[in-house]
Amino acid sequence: MGQRLKDMLALLFLFGLFMVIVQSVVIRQAQAEEGSLEAHVHGMSDLTIAVEGGEIEIEFESPAMNIVGFEYKAQSARDIEAAERAAVVLEQHDKVFTFIGTTCELIDSSVDVSGVLNVAHDDHDTHDDHDAHDDHDAHDDHEHEESDTDAHSDISAAYHFSCDNALKLSAIQVHLFKLFEGIDEIRTMWLREGKQGAITLTSKAPRVDIR
Ligand SMILES: [Zn+2]
Repeated sequence: MGQRLKDMLALLFLFGLFMVIVQSVVIRQAQAEEGSLEAHVHGMSDLTIAVEGGEIEIEFESPAMNIVGFEYKAQSARDIEAAERAAVVLEQHDKVFTFIGTTCELIDSSVDVSGVLNVAHDDHDTHDDHDAHDDHDAHDDHEHEESDTDAHSDISAAYHFSCDNALKLSAIQVHLFKLFEGIDEIRTMWLREGKQGAITLTSKAPRVDIR
């Protein structure tokens, strides 16, 4: 092999290495943006799907505005009913997601509407600091009402499924647009056995291809 060819191969190798590094940095940035740095934008919701072995974990997070049309703590009977209804709808996992290629059974789920509802309800997965904050607010209703005006709040749900043959899963159909008209787009990120992808879903394209 000539020296020149060796040099070129070495260069190609370095270039390939460089691209791998660039790619992993970009992916890490995307993950950071999907995480705590995620902006709260009305109309936008977030979905994270993780497929591991025969199990699927799905997390949904949305500005409450998209789901119930307000972000303050519900006071009127109408608002309280809207928040409770939203929780019931999100709990009906089979109306929220359809798995294509396999059959999945729900193991457990939690829906958190505490951002807009003061009533204690069972969601063991709620962040502790958030609960503490709510408790504090409950003791000081008046001050809370005043600060509510420009406060934002989220509604979230988490689902854990066990599937017959997760390897055959090809896509997940997301019905959230039909259930909640306030959702315009869902930023979706999926992970599956070392692979990952990101897609923004809309009412016209509500399907996540996972492969
Ligand atoms: Zn908001």
